[in-house]
Amino acid sequence: MNRRLAYAATGIAAVLLPLTGVQVATAAEASPLVVDLYYDASDAPDYQAEATQAAANWNGAVHNVHLDAGGAATILIHEVTGGGSYTQTDGHGRGDIYIDTQQVAEGNDPTRILAHEIGHNLGLPDHYTGPCSELMSGHGPGISCKNAIPDARERAQVDENFANGFASVNDGVRVYR
Ligand SMILES: [Zn+2]
Repeated sequence: MNRRLAYAATGIAAVLLPLTGVQVATAAEASPLVVDLYYDASDAPDYQAEATQAAANWNGAVHNVHLDAGGAATILIHEVTGGGSYTQTDGHGRGDIYIDTQQVAEGNDPTRILAHEIGHNLGLPDHYTGPCSELMSGHGPGISCKNAIPDARERAQVDENFANGFASVNDGVRVYR
């Protein structure tokens, strides 16, 4: 229970003092373990900027995991035409993301799609009945919803998922739409 309170307090601090790109834990910080994840969007040439923005949105929202382009990427972003956007992932930083150009053409926001699919790679499930303020509500709120930033509960859940490094979540590989 104290642990949950500690996460909640961390979430509030994140709103007041966004730690953009900071990976070095201070002495006062509760969790010194930051999981560095690398993604590769080279197979999604039309969505390079959107992938960068989606990763930046997550980096500005959570403390215990950080996304960077390049490196030995474990999150691979692909552009496809038809079939819907989805990801196949272990829910803990390894997976393939597929963004459907047809869904974008129909008006779905590509940054929201990518941030949503990254959310699955960070261990979040779908919640289609949620409001636009939730990333994991996905297409639920309709194409007018352009929000690509996780809400407070989603941030807290991801920080909890990565609180103990790579070992904390292992649900096996699944496909999420
Ligand atoms: Zn989804």
